[in-house]
Amino acid sequence: MDRPQIQLDFAPELHLFVSAPRRAGRTALRTDGASTLGHVVESLGVPLTEVGALLVDGRAVPDSHVPADGEEITVRAVARPQPSPVPARFLLDVHLGTLARRLRLLGVDAAYENPDIGDAALAARSAAEQRIMLSRDRGLLRRRELWAGAYVYSHRPAEQLRDVLSRFAPPLAPWSRCTACNGRLHPATKTSVREQLRDGTERSYDAFAQCEDCGQAYWRGAHHARLEAIVAEAVRDFGPGRAGGPGQEPGPVGEFGEVHGSGEGQGRIGVVSG
Ligand SMILES: [Zn+2]
Repeated sequence: MDRPQIQLDFAPELHLFVSAPRRAGRTALRTDGASTLGHVVESLGVPLTEVGALLVDGRAVPDSHVPADGEEITVRAVARPQPSPVPARFLLDVHLGTLARRLRLLGVDAAYENPDIGDAALAARSAAEQRIMLSRDRGLLRRRELWAGAYVYSHRPAEQLRDVLSRFAPPLAPWSRCTACNGRLHPATKTSVREQLRDGTERSYDAFAQCEDCGQAYWRGAHHARLEAIVAEAVRDFGPGRAGGPGQEPGPVGEFGEVHGSGEGQGRIGVVSG
């Protein structure tokens, strides 16, 4: 049986996934005549999470389409922003800790597993909690159990953050989430967090917040300039979101910041103790 020959053209955004000869434009490929187009694209190195429309001779087809001889196929990149059926929330793999903390700083729901629980458990959690799996691991993104996934294109946290915010446009509610554990912050009295305070902090500050999950205390203060800059840039470029709107994230409880020099690297903003 003759194997069908098709012509393939990948969007520029997908060129990093394919071998060099396929980056130059339309190239020929012989298929086995039985594999789906989704499988063919994936076998050339492109995660399906990154694929938008698939066009055969200009007509959109599902990834279950089995290519026939002579077809000209265009593989487009996923649209930005990418619609999500539920408000976007995320699960990050063990290599994306800084990105996780920055998303939380902006109030975005960002679960993060460290130590690594393994690809199977990550995929299962993504499915169980309807979280978008963020990873730079193409093998992980190929797992069929994932509810949704997205490749993180840069290895640099600042670019990673812009990548995720521009792609999914999650509502932003800065300073409303615990950067250590992803729990929500609620306003707290000085009395309720007193045992976590050092003397100077207790005298200097009056507005406090506390994580609903881990109990970590935060206070309004002179926050770390670098974290402030991250928040300011994100809000400027990606909007304040729909914070406080019906059914959305609660409004920020205030700007809680750095006092003791435990920087972003430790995953803490304005942490009183620990
Ligand atoms: Zn917490």
